[in-house]
Amino acid sequence: MRIISKVLELKEYLQAQKKIIGFVPTMGALHDGHLSLIKKAKSDCELVVVSIFVNPTQFLKGEDLDKYPSRDEADKKICELSGVDVIFLPQVDEIYGEDEVKLSAPDVRGFVLEGATRPGHFSGVLTVVNKLFNIVNPDFAYFGKKDAQQLNLITLMVKQLFMNVIIVPVDTVRESDGLALSSRNIYLNANERREALKISTALYEASKMVSKKELNTSLIREKMLQILQPLKIGYVEILNRDFEIVSEVEVGNSIVLVEALVGETRLLDNIWL
Ligand code: AMP
Repeated sequence: MRIISKVLELKEYLQAQKKIIGFVPTMGALHDGHLSLIKKAKSDCELVVVSIFVNPTQFLKGEDLDKYPSRDEADKKICELSGVDVIFLPQVDEIYGEDEVKLSAPDVRGFVLEGATRPGHFSGVLTVVNKLFNIVNPDFAYFGKKDAQQLNLITLMVKQLFMNVIIVPVDTVRESDGLALSSRNIYLNANERREALKISTALYEASKMVSKKELNTSLIREKMLQILQPLKIGYVEILNRDFEIVSEVEVGNSIVLVEALVGETRLLDNIWL
């Protein structure tokens, strides 16, 4: 496994390989969720690149950029053991200069839900993913359904900017009790960890209601909000897969999304119905 921190070196290395490249962009602190993206990439592609870069432009002022968990040595081990071919581990000044050209998230889809709580977040995400795609030039790129809005916007960017990469969505990996894996879960104390379970419980309840033919989104939302009490809710929304609010669940075309603050930790989860 190679660990490369320079853009030019990575570009030259990958171009010389002439292989089908699978790319898994991450911010590090790797867990089994990231691992399932890597495994999928391994099974589809001849060469797998994982980037580890805590992208400053997707953090708003006052967010947890400075304390975002960093575990480079453990991450390198995990990548090595899972057969990653190249880790791209750049410093910030390798990716960003002064007076930068930026991508802007779409006015509507980029500024609802997560984009409303964190205005500008998705512009930072799209900007860095665009840069990383230009550096790695992957055939396939792997993103978790857990960050459903991010996945939706990246898919849209690839389509609208006519980019030559196939985006592969990967299912959310959970703890055995239902909690979605997240690098931020390490911030939770034992009590918060228990409270956090209300998020997946509320999502499973939504799924149960739909399987019993209750498709009315107001009723489902109401029930979910009860379960989520007393967490501070960012949003609970039921949308179609184009991220439009719907009054009835369309089975096979819906996503139920939750953002909640557990203690100081903002957690996201969703379920695709
Ligand atoms: P992050 O390091 O948080 O930026 O995540 C990197 C990639 O891993 C993103 O595509 C995430 O959606 C994905 N990811 C994060 N958590 C999970 C999970 N629990 N299951 C599947 N994919 C995940």
